[in-house]
This record gives sequence, C-alpha cells and structure tokens, in this order.
Amino acid sequence: MRNTGILLAAVLASSSLLLGQSSTSSQPPSGFSIENIDKSVDPCTDFYQYACGNWMKNAQIPGDQPEWASFIEVEERNNLVLKAILEKAQAGGSSRSTLDQKIGDYYGACIDEKAADGKGLDALKPELNRIAAVKDKNGLIDAIARVHLIGPNPLFNFYSSPDLHDANMVIANIDQGGLSLPDRKYYINDSDPKMVEMRKHLTEYATTLFSLSGQSAQRAADSAQAVLRIETVLAKASMDRTLRRDPKNRDHKMTRDAAVALAPNFYLTRYFAEINTPTFSEMNVSNPDFFKQVNGVIESEPVDALKTYVQWHLMNAAAPWLSTPFVEANFKFKQALTGQAEIQARWKRCVEATDGALGEALGQRFVEETFGPDGKQRMLKMVDALEKSLDQDIRGLPWMTEDTKKQAKVKLEAIRNKIGYPDVWRDYSKLEVVPGDLMGNFLRANEFESRRQIAKISKPVDRLEWGMTPPTVNAYYSPPRNEVVFPAGILQPQFFDKKIDDDVNFGSIGAVIGHELTHGFDDQGRKFDPQGNLRDWWTEQDGKEFEKRASCVADEYSNFVAIDDLKLNGKLTLGENTADNGGARIALMALMNMIAQDKTGKAAEKIDGYTPEQRFYLGFARVWCEKRRPEFSRMLVNVDPHSPVRIRTNGVVENMPEFQKAWGCKAGQPMVKESQCRVW
Ligand SMILES: [Zn+2]
Repeated sequence: MRNTGILLAAVLASSSLLLGQSSTSSQPPSGFSIENIDKSVDPCTDFYQYACGNWMKNAQIPGDQPEWASFIEVEERNNLVLKAILEKAQAGGSSRSTLDQKIGDYYGACIDEKAADGKGLDALKPELNRIAAVKDKNGLIDAIARVHLIGPNPLFNFYSSPDLHDANMVIANIDQGGLSLPDRKYYINDSDPKMVEMRKHLTEYATTLFSLSGQSAQRAADSAQAVLRIETVLAKASMDRTLRRDPKNRDHKMTRDAAVALAPNFYLTRYFAEINTPTFSEMNVSNPDFFKQVNGVIESEPVDALKTYVQWHLMNAAAPWLSTPFVEANFKFKQALTGQAEIQARWKRCVEATDGALGEALGQRFVEETFGPDGKQRMLKMVDALEKSLDQDIRGLPWMTEDTKKQAKVKLEAIRNKIGYPDVWRDYSKLEVVPGDLMGNFLRANEFESRRQIAKISKPVDRLEWGMTPPTVNAYYSPPRNEVVFPAGILQPQFFDKKIDDDVNFGSIGAVIGHELTHGFDDQGRKFDPQGNLRDWWTEQDGKEFEKRASCVADEYSNFVAIDDLKLNGKLTLGENTADNGGARIALMALMNMIAQDKTGKAAEKIDGYTPEQRFYLGFARVWCEKRRPEFSRMLVNVDPHSPVRIRTNGVVENMPEFQKAWGCKAGQPMVKESQCRVW
C-alpha cells in the first residue's frame, strides 16, 4: 500500500521470522529489562550504547535475517502463532469454515516444496507462453496489462488512491516503476563500487533465470542485458526519492485524454480496457516525464526485447514459488542486498505469503488468539493522552500564530484512530484457493488484489479499509486519510507491555503513537488539510517559520554518519526524524501529565533505581536496540526514509533539554547539542 509515514523500515525487512530453537537461546531478554543496560557507558556520552549496550553484546543476528531488532523479535513470536493457526487450518479437513479452508489450503500448497520442485517452471509456463506469442505492439500492451494484473509492474505502476484534491474520492494513478534494483541510483551511480556490483548481481540473476527457462547461455546473457538496458532508461527518467517526498512533485492531475497523449506509443486506452477499469475522465500521472520516457522505450526497443523484459518481471516475481534452482537464484540476489547468510525456513516464507494473499482472513484468527478487548481499551487511552499532549504542545509553540494553531487543532481533532484490526473484514469469497496449486493460488491472489484496487476508481474512499494486515509489526499515518493505524501485531512487548510500568510504555508505544501523530504535521503531512486534501492551511509567515525549523533538523541529521563512508541524507529522512523528535516530546509530556494527576504520588516513584523520566528514555531506546548486517545498512541509507537506530535514539535525545535534566548531563557532553533543533 502507498501509505507514507511508516514507523519501521519495510523495504526488505518485512520478511522475517526464524526457527525458535536456532536463535532464542542465544538472544538477550526479549522484553524490557535493565539487564540490557551497559553501565560502563555514561548515558550522557552515548545514550544508545548505554541503553542497548548489553543487549547488543548478547544479541546475534540469526543466519536467516538481515538484522536483529525488537520488531523482528515480535515478528518471530507472531510467526509461531500464525504457523500454529495455519497448520491447524491445513489439517482441518472437510468440516472447516471457508476461511480456514482458504488460509489452510494456501499455506498447505505453499509449504509443499517437493511438489514445487516436481513442477519446475511448468506452473508459470502458460503465462510465459502468452507473452512469447506476442507479435506486435497491440499484443504487447495486452501482455503488460495481464502481467500487471497477476503481480509485478513492468514499465510503470498503475494503482488507485484518494484524489489529492478530493480526498473523498478514489482516482486512477500512473506512477514510475519497472525497476528490479531498490533505487534508480543503482543504475546510474558509477562512483559507488557497491552499486556497480549490484548491477552485476542483477544481470547474473537474470541470466540464471533465463537459462533455467530454457534459453541458451548466450541468449540468456543477451536477455539479461536487454533487461538492464531498459531498466537503466527507466531509472534515468525516475524522480529521486527525496524529491518524491514532496507531494506537490507527484501532483499532476489531468484528463484521461491528456494522459493518453503523453505516451501515444503506449496505447493507454487499450491498456485500460484490458485491465477493465471503471469509467473515469481524470487521473493523476505522478511523474509525467517518466511516462513520456515509457513512450520512448516502447518506440525505441524491439518488441522482442520488451517481451523479454516483461517475462523477466514475471519470472522474478514468481521465482520464490518455483522449483529450488529458481528459489536459490532469487535468494542469492536478495542476499547481495541484505547480507543474509541463509534463506528462511520454508514455513516462514509461507506464513508471510499467506499473510500477503489472505492477510485479513489469517488476521481474524490471529486477533482471536492474541488481542483481547483490554488491549484495545488501554491503547485507546494512550492515544487519547498523546493527542492531548500534542494539542498542548501546539498551543505552547512560541513561533506559530493563533490562526495556524486553530487550523492545526482542527486537523488534530479530525485524525482517526484504527487500533488492532479492521471493523469490517475483507471478503475473500471470490478468491479461489485450490489445494496443491501453489503458483495458481499466488497468481489468483495477486489478480484478486489488483482487481480490488482497480474497482475502487471513481468511487468514494472506503474509510474502513486498512493498509496493513493485523499481524504486521508496524504502524502508519496516512496523509490523504488523516488517520493513524496500529495493527495488533505491534501492540505487544516491547512496544506495549501490559505488565510493565507506564513510564516504560510511554517511552515505547507512547513514542510510537506520538511519532505517527506527528507525521500529520511533518514537512509532508502539513501540506494536507483535515480532510486529507493537498491544501495549504498555513499563514505564509508560519509556513516560513516551519521551514526554518525543518531545515535545522535536515542539516543536523545530514551530519550523522550512517555507515562507513556514507552520511545520512537529512532531506530524505526529514519527515521521519521530525516524527521521532515530536513523538518523543509529546509522549514524555503525556507521561508527565499522568504523573501530575496521580494524587497518591506512586507514579513519581523510582523503579529499579530509575526515575520515571529515566525509565521513559530507557523504554524509548529499547524499542530501537538492533544489530544490522553492513550490506543491509548500506542499502537502507539509499532507500529508507528512516534514520539508522542509533541515530533515531541519540539524534532525538540530543535535542531534548528534558533528557539532559533527567540524566544530569552537562554542557559539552556529546548528548547535549549546543544548538538544539525543534519543530514540534
Ligand atoms: Zn514514520
């Protein structure tokens, strides 16, 4: 889904999970524990090291993970729950409910490695043959439309989303896409040897898949070169991801006819008919220059090269579910990006696949097992407390005029909360899941989702819809919907621990809630009004004052070293850093409000020798304790709008006078910034 403001990195980290036995014994305490603290470090010198030092000493990155971190620990726990649910559903027999039949059979077909090996590429052959049979450009457009429906997105992305200018209505969108590497930079940057190397990994991987599909060694190598050539042209025409953060750069609403005219060689009208869109007269083309380049590619490339490119995208998407040689080639490519030592156990990959295909069916069983009404109530109370402190924070801002403050309050009050799981579950009755048909199920599930997205065009926005499945360990803020969403998956220790003191919980889940709420007012979010329209509600002077403060944060974070020779991109990470800083500040305010209201004085007492403020900061840091493989770190610096965790922790506390007071830090110490940045 295209929600912005996701709390945690989701690029390749979203796949996860590992066998309990192989890792948990060697890992440090999983919940909040003062055992994680490294007391040999001065908290005013390096707070992250102090709070997470012992945790890091004991933690090991499991072979099948690119990193080890709080949210992966929680994912691993969730996955064991999901595995048990799916195995039960799989074994249920004929008395099963329709829901259990679908999730059980999807998982059952997926887990059967022997059957997948026996089929080789056969299960994908009908789709590949369909592309191979294409003779002209009309046929090519039909083939691209078909491939877009059943999974990957060669050439460009087509999807539906709320209209930037009428957030109540869904509009069709064409956006840049069609790349196999994580970012345009990988194709055009010649000065970073790691990026040049990744291009080699891509062509090797593509050559392997084309060979496995039956091409001669020479032809397979030529095919891979065609893929790289076409993707390089698309990469050059793609907008840099830092520029894409500004919604105005992606706002190009035009008539359907104007969009068709942008790329006359692409036969867009034929494409729309082929994917069966509802009627519409206007649409958004996020990056018109890119779409013009799609026209150029269609014009300059032979049909055969374009067929090869489309086949590549289909094989690449399907590779994890084909026979072992495909799976291994696919993993080897991912490994170059993440540094992961070994592939995940098949059951974990299949849990993830079932979540991807039938997430709100599997999610129903998941919340039945894990998420009680008491969890929702306590969470609602915390969200309420955080909204109150954000309101208090805005009212107290010395640089904002009353007019803009009034508007900000309207927007804050309009934010919707979604907690745990959807009120209305998605209906999968039309998705056919066939026992033993892994590839068929995979393609049908993709098509089901594509058609669901397309059917929304020209209809009112469904306010009840969720963009993440309930077991997901993540959260998001959506600017066009003006809503914060917290799936049940994240509402567990050490993000949210029912058994632990509020001091720690406000530092962990409290700061997460604060983070998401602040996204409504970061450099992106502030451009949307309470209804989710892209509309400026700021006075000119207040807008300038905001930009001044945001620049301070962007410059501050640009000076952090992310890894080795790579500095952090302060502009790419600006929204997340703003949300991290604002989130921590309003979470601490909420905790202080709560302590002030406690007449017994108990809330102000020390626990384990730490004051409530200190425990708040320990809870805040604990969420980010992490070990990450260097390959993965490098990739994330290039693509992830979030800062690395050490910076997510220290960058925030360095900006907070409250931190210095809580830990007795003195001017000149590393955790005391001489000139502190503050937006919210
Ligand atoms: Zn975020």
